[in-house]
Amino acid sequence: MAVTLDTDLARVLGAKTAKAMAESLDLRTVRDLLRHYPRRYARRGEIARLDDLQVGDRVTVLAQVRKVTSRRMRNRPGTLTEVTVGDGAGQMQLVFFNRRFGKLEEGAWGLFAGTVGEYRRTKQFAHPDFHLISGDDDEDWARALIPIYPASKDVSSWVIQKSVKLLLDAAGGFGFVDDPLPEDLRARHGLLSLPAALLDIHRPTGQDDVERAQDRLKWDEAITLQLVLAARRRAAALEPGTARPRRPGGLLDAVDAALPFTLTDGQRDVGEELAAELSRDQPMHRLLQGEVGSGKTVVALRAMAQVVDAGGQAALLAPTEVLAAQHARSISAMLGPLARAGELDGDPSGTKVVLLTGSLKAAARRAARAAVADGSAGIVIGTHALLQQGVDFADLGLVVVDEQHRFGVEQRDALRAKGNRPPHVLVMTATPIPRTVAMTVYGDLETSVLRQLPSGRGGVASSVVPVSDKPAWLDRAWERLREEVAAGRQAYVVCPRIGDDDTDTDDADAPDDADGAPAEEDAGGGSDRRPPLAVLEVAEALHQGPLAGLRLAVLHGRMTPEAKEATMQAFAAREVDVLVATTVVEVGVDVPNATVMVVMDADRFGVSQLHQLRGRVARGKHRGLCLLVTEARDTTATGQRLAAVAGTSDGFELARVDLETRREGDVLGAAQSGRRSTVKLLSLLEDEELIAAARAEATALLATDRGLADHPGLAAEVAALATDERATYLEKA
Ligand code: ADP
Ligand code: MG
Repeated sequence: MAVTLDTDLARVLGAKTAKAMAESLDLRTVRDLLRHYPRRYARRGEIARLDDLQVGDRVTVLAQVRKVTSRRMRNRPGTLTEVTVGDGAGQMQLVFFNRRFGKLEEGAWGLFAGTVGEYRRTKQFAHPDFHLISGDDDEDWARALIPIYPASKDVSSWVIQKSVKLLLDAAGGFGFVDDPLPEDLRARHGLLSLPAALLDIHRPTGQDDVERAQDRLKWDEAITLQLVLAARRRAAALEPGTARPRRPGGLLDAVDAALPFTLTDGQRDVGEELAAELSRDQPMHRLLQGEVGSGKTVVALRAMAQVVDAGGQAALLAPTEVLAAQHARSISAMLGPLARAGELDGDPSGTKVVLLTGSLKAAARRAARAAVADGSAGIVIGTHALLQQGVDFADLGLVVVDEQHRFGVEQRDALRAKGNRPPHVLVMTATPIPRTVAMTVYGDLETSVLRQLPSGRGGVASSVVPVSDKPAWLDRAWERLREEVAAGRQAYVVCPRIGDDDTDTDDADAPDDADGAPAEEDAGGGSDRRPPLAVLEVAEALHQGPLAGLRLAVLHGRMTPEAKEATMQAFAAREVDVLVATTVVEVGVDVPNATVMVVMDADRFGVSQLHQLRGRVARGKHRGLCLLVTEARDTTATGQRLAAVAGTSDGFELARVDLETRREGDVLGAAQSGRRSTVKLLSLLEDEELIAAARAEATALLATDRGLADHPGLAAEVAALATDERATYLEKA
């Protein structure tokens, strides 16, 4: 049979199997099946690791039947069959109700797949699916390594294994697979050909085969990603932009004169870097990383001022209304009369600062849009509302995106497209980004880093409060909070949920965060967990109990924008002692007098989220205190994760911890947003060298005008990824 990568699986496997594969695993073509790699390989001796299995895990194990006993059940009709399987080292129980198992004879080997349960403290599978290895099976089962595939209830690992075998037989080998990688590249990096790698990953004869195959297949993933990014960088470099050189005696000089502090060395250096890039007619694409509190806002403001001085407009995109309003307030305050050009008390040499958010009333919105359109607003600050149709700039020169991790490439592009010519772009993030992530997720941007915090900061001390192990510590936490308030300072209490409603785990205002809590790795199945603590309930309990007498207020995404703003103002004005809030306070909220943060159910938050949160209490001259309250025991993975957060304030170290606890796919969102993921084997933690090498190769491949014309295989892979991602920028370029 003539088989190609695009051949429908139904033609190879028959309609029934193909349908099950399509429906439960989204595998439709020969390509899909071949790129569905084993998750791991089973070998004898492995069952010893059964002890590591968590209740609720769905697993496949290779084992031998040891003992089969059947008996009538006492309390209900029918029989119970218990089967003990083992492999020399360990053993486990399989339990079946009312089924006959003539086939399950002692001594037989098989694969057993099921969900791990527990009965009387012994791990067991109830009603596992199984496949016995019999004389009818081919030599497959004699192999040292049996591939275990990501499987589903309807398509088991062994059906996939058999399907690959069928395909191999039908096509007479994998010779039909064209290798997209150029031969010289393969030779340079010592890589297997694609047909050889596919054969080895699906049917290895030993561990060496697996490793060499993975090495090669990771290259496919890395180079495709890097080609997309290199194409994007190259297209951007060719775009004509508008130079916005410095002009003395303008807004920038006024800002510098008005600053209540001296810039840190880092702020000055990055400032020079930005000033130089803004002066070129090639648009800047820069990522500014800086620890929470490192002072990114003023860096951005100075860049915006330079652009305004050069006759352009600057837009600052913030992830939440609270943050947009705060930026507008602090920037207006810093500029004083210079922010009110055109008003009675304004300085005519200044500009207008306009806030544009979704909650503006129609008339205010119309006025704001008009000022944006006629160019009188030099500085425009807003949320997603800035991206909408009908927001037209007279001459957009610079786009600043604050707290990037909440925005996608598409949103950045939507704003960019509002310039007459491509504007300069500055992306700011407080989440430190490991080098591999910078090379992938942000691979189209140049990077600057602010490492230093302004001096005179007290910093923040963090501790875990393990309420299961040490319940008394929570009382002590509230006492500490009261002490701080008594000393004239303020506090936050953060909860994962709003309350009064079960559908409210996300704030309407704080978009779904990609870096939320990691998968519940040790929560014991999840279903028996109590719901996360809620702002409304916790506030009430604190008011009645440990914090009675203090001035409490709540802040969450279900409040109206006016109410949120009023609450923030009251907190900033010290009319409120304790703000009980959701993660709306996570990004950028700046109240230096707040020194304590108590995070309830801290285990429900992700690592970088916690780091962001505690940044709120490290802003003033007093030392901040962050208490991570959790029921997780310190021996669990969750407990360890929290200990890591408490143990270091080095954002780069935490970024690594974060990466370890998240699946690659969560991080590589862009490459994963398509129907099928492109990144299956590549690890951002382990494959730094490979990614760097692939980046260099990709850049070299695209350095000539012929682009990928001589490499149709690679061009096809890139096109597939681009379509899959709906990565519109390739067409735009
Ligand atoms: P982030 O980088 O987290 O966005 P901000 O820009 O909000 O940090 O700055 C945090 C605080 O530090 C603000 O109150 C700001 O006014 C202050 N700040 C910024 N730069 C300096 C500096 N060089 N010296 C002293 N304080 C500064
Ligand atoms: Mg900020």
